[in-house]
Amino acid sequence: MRALVMEQGEDGLAAAQITDIDEAMLPEGDVTVAVEYSTLNYKDGLCLSPKGGGLVRNYPHVPGIDFAGTVETSDDPRFAAGDKVVLTGWRVGENRWGGYAEKARVKADWLVPLPDGLSPHDAMAVGTAGFTAMLAVMALEDHGLTPDKGPVLVTGAAGGVGSVATAILAHIGYDVAAVTGRPEQADYLKSLGAKTIIARDEINETVKRPLETETWAGCIDAVGGDMLARILGQMKYGASVAAVGLAGGAHLPASVVPFLLRGVNLLGIDSVTQPTENRKRAWARVATDLPLAKLHDMVHPATLTELPDLGAAILKGGIKGRVVVDVN
Ligand code: NDP
Repeated sequence: MRALVMEQGEDGLAAAQITDIDEAMLPEGDVTVAVEYSTLNYKDGLCLSPKGGGLVRNYPHVPGIDFAGTVETSDDPRFAAGDKVVLTGWRVGENRWGGYAEKARVKADWLVPLPDGLSPHDAMAVGTAGFTAMLAVMALEDHGLTPDKGPVLVTGAAGGVGSVATAILAHIGYDVAAVTGRPEQADYLKSLGAKTIIARDEINETVKRPLETETWAGCIDAVGGDMLARILGQMKYGASVAAVGLAGGAHLPASVVPFLLRGVNLLGIDSVTQPTENRKRAWARVATDLPLAKLHDMVHPATLTELPDLGAAILKGGIKGRVVVDVN
């Protein structure tokens, strides 16, 4: 079977090779999946880097933190040969072999049956990034967000999480303001449904005043750092921010005043160990709330061979939308 394998050199640095490996090398698991598509997330960029981004512990390693395909064999009664499945998270592709190969062997607990209406290609156009965007939308709604409350801010909007978040929110009736550091992506973001485009520099500044004008009814933040700290002071009374990512840094130089005086909520979003029932709920919502035509417009197709370069690009914020990798 063909796979992208990270092999460690004598200098301790890992490099990618596209090679044929014996299926017997696959790790233990209950279900073997014929992978059709995988994708590229920020974490994949880290796993493809020479030091494995602190995520990869053992080499040789097959990265790919998510994949979709067809069950080939299953020792678990929940799955049978021919079932279409998707996997995201559970540290697959990080400390376990992942989706950058024609086959993957995993625990049945980690798989979700694909909902009707979503193909394996669609599922990977969504990928971990889009699935996480859906979890963030659900968390905001669970905390009272409705379209009549006002505009919703999406940061890192031209990236994977941001693109899908923008498309979903616009489709279900929200007025979306998209923050991007790439003004040339304004037309793309408008085509996804963003109503307003905000330049990153306008908002990516250290907090000067803990409270600013109440502007946003909700926010999906893929950036963190100074930007998230500043946004907290711009939220409307009782509004929530879903903290998804750290593309701008893991620090949070914020004031607690927005929490205390405006009842603002900061909601953490974790896609990796999300319980299965909520995963099923999120994938079902993806199938109904993400317009497939817009999803297809944000896809950049790729092969295993292109992944090392694309991995380096995503770490520099250079990828637009979603990369879908045909592993075969
Ligand atoms: P992408 O690289 O596709 O998108 C990130 C976007 O953030 C970029 O496109 C860019 O958007 C913006 N950005 C990049 N660098 C900076 C910077 N220095 N300052 C401000 N903005 C910046 O990554 P993903 O969308 O796949 O992931 C986004 C984040 O979410 C990552 O940190 C990732 O690790 C995290 N994540 C978390 C998950 C979870 O379970 N919590 C799951 C999936 C992802 P633009 O050009 O529009 O400004």
